[in-house]
Amino acid sequence: MCEKTDKPILVLASANKGKIREIGEMLPEYKVVGYKEMGLDAEIEETGSTFYENALIKARAVSDALGLPALADDSGLCVNALGGAPGIYSARYAGDGDDKHNNALLLKNMENIKDREAKFVSALVLYYPGGKIISAQGETYGKILYGCEGTGGFGYDPLFYSFDLNKSLGVATAEEKNSISHRYRALCALKEKLNEENNSRI
Ligand code: IMP
Repeated sequence: MCEKTDKPILVLASANKGKIREIGEMLPEYKVVGYKEMGLDAEIEETGSTFYENALIKARAVSDALGLPALADDSGLCVNALGGAPGIYSARYAGDGDDKHNNALLLKNMENIKDREAKFVSALVLYYPGGKIISAQGETYGKILYGCEGTGGFGYDPLFYSFDLNKSLGVATAEEKNSISHRYRALCALKEKLNEENNSRI
């Protein structure tokens, strides 16, 4: 279970350490914890056909199981020349959930492709016990490099050249990535919706 903290706990419906770290960095007023840290030992099947549907499935499953509000991020990389792939299948593109294997397969599938434009997408769903939902989406734009640059971030970051930062997300600092990322933009949009409801607290 969780250590003692004065900050309110925000449960993230994710086991992805990169996402948990980044959302924690972007929401310092909360102690952001993955659902497994809350003692919930479940694998949640993502059976949706969009980022939003998968985020809803994850947030609802964790909120229902814990009886607490839960935030889910479903995200991925969409490459123009690959018809939007790997998209919602980004985490398991190469079949085993290994970032290195996913990056190697992406490079192989992009061999000889000149149009390298791509975007990261994040769909966030905040699900409250009882069924209230607040959702938002964010995107960030760039292109796929011909090889990895840097080792920062997670997932496809070393292969993604950000048009906002003019560098690979593998080279960018955490602060730089968190100022332009799809996840940051989705979180800003989510916070705006919370404010519109006069409910600035998650
Ligand atoms: P999900 O956990 O089903 O939402 O899958 C997310 C997957 O998309 C990750 O495992 C990465 O492969 C990719 N992804 C999402 N966001 C990022 C990011 O910020 N950087 C790099 N890869 C990301």
